[in-house]
Amino acid sequence: TSSGSGGGGVRFELEKETELRFEVEAGEKVQLELLSGLAEVFGSELNRNKKYTFGPGSKIAVFTWQGCSVSLTGKTEVAYVSKDTPMLLYLNTHAALEQMRQQAERDNERGPRVMVVGPTDVGKSTVCRLLLSYAVRLGRRPTLVELDVGQSAVSVPGTVSALCIERPADVEEGFSVQAPLVFHFGSTTPGTNIKLYNKLTSSLAEVFSQRCEVNRKASVGGCIINTCGWVKGSGYQALVHCASAFEVDVVLVLDQERLYNELKRDLPHFVKVVLLPKSGGVVERSKDCRREARDEKIREYFYGFRGVSFYPHAFDVRFSDVRIYKIGAPSIPDSCLPLGMSQDDTQLKLVPVTPGRDLTHHVLSVSCMEDEAEAGAGGTSGPRRGVLESPVCGFIVVTAVDTQAQVMTVLSPAPRPLPRHTLLIMDIRFIDLK
Ligand code: ATP
Repeated sequence: TSSGSGGGGVRFELEKETELRFEVEAGEKVQLELLSGLAEVFGSELNRNKKYTFGPGSKIAVFTWQGCSVSLTGKTEVAYVSKDTPMLLYLNTHAALEQMRQQAERDNERGPRVMVVGPTDVGKSTVCRLLLSYAVRLGRRPTLVELDVGQSAVSVPGTVSALCIERPADVEEGFSVQAPLVFHFGSTTPGTNIKLYNKLTSSLAEVFSQRCEVNRKASVGGCIINTCGWVKGSGYQALVHCASAFEVDVVLVLDQERLYNELKRDLPHFVKVVLLPKSGGVVERSKDCRREARDEKIREYFYGFRGVSFYPHAFDVRFSDVRIYKIGAPSIPDSCLPLGMSQDDTQLKLVPVTPGRDLTHHVLSVSCMEDEAEAGAGGTSGPRRGVLESPVCGFIVVTAVDTQAQVMTVLSPAPRPLPRHTLLIMDIRFIDLK
């Protein structure tokens, strides 16, 4: 029944409701081709006789509802077919959410707001992608809310963001990232500044709700919120905060019964908390692997991805032309705080940074805040409110600092001058090897 030879690749025959899982070896590429039947990768359909290329370290599942044959060309670390997948449960979840959207449409209400939670490496991002792609394939316009500051699917690490999904994820590249709303967080774990993290979650929720008020399709489409894998202590509290900020209707808990029970206990009774198994295919990622993925994400931001190459610019920026801030002063004992100031205030404080050698390699967010707005703010507390609530319009990396000449050299996606002059420093560094 096959229509091709597979071009020298290894051929796999998949029965219905099974998936082919494979990992691409480091430094290698693997080509996937659908030879016959129907198949999808994380909710996006494959075209027949088209070659899809996956880069080093990719971990992919090709699932088929009806049965298919595919071929793989290139070096895989593992490649096997599994009959044991939770895809049917995920599809049922999608069907339930779609029913909620239909009802919202009928009753002129809002569609489901869904939060996906679970420890690290349970496939949260993958489930989000799947549910979003299925929804958009039915003509819905759901919003992806990305709260995973470690591994963002939307922007560089150290950010939270929202993205309207208008077409299914590209099989090779994921969702097309056009005009996302991005906020600066500054590090890869919410724990470094939980106050700021919660505040940004509230800001995103507010913007999303405003959009829903003026855009019926967005309202009916609802949102899918991807969260961090930190589910204890303040990490757990951040999930509860998120549920209330977004007024979520559904929480999907992947793989952890304890978390499921805690959320059932702590969230209002009208929130549907659902426990779902994780897929056996989800691969655990080491610290190194995560760091590499983060690095790659930043590299892509500046240099592009696969077919699309970007040519970033390098230029000098005078210290006197920009204002660089770090959000959050180091915490000091309560007894040492000035009268009337709380620990919260220190975490949300804008601390001016004097550029020095140690700025080298740091990623900086360029705040969208109007420069004039800031000039007006002044005062001892600085322009705090404006900056924290302003989204980010782009990122630069400091590649060199000359304290003598009072300039720094930056890597920027756009030529000089910088669009805005308020910069926020991240803990995250990127070493530009090009
Ligand atoms: P984190 O907490 O780090 O954000 P996560 O819970 O969001 O992790 P994912 O990013 O969704 O987990 O999945 C981890 C990896 O496993 C990804 O590289 C993904 O492509 C892969 N993966 C997910 N599902 C499968 C599957 N069924 N077969 C093979 N690989 C899979």
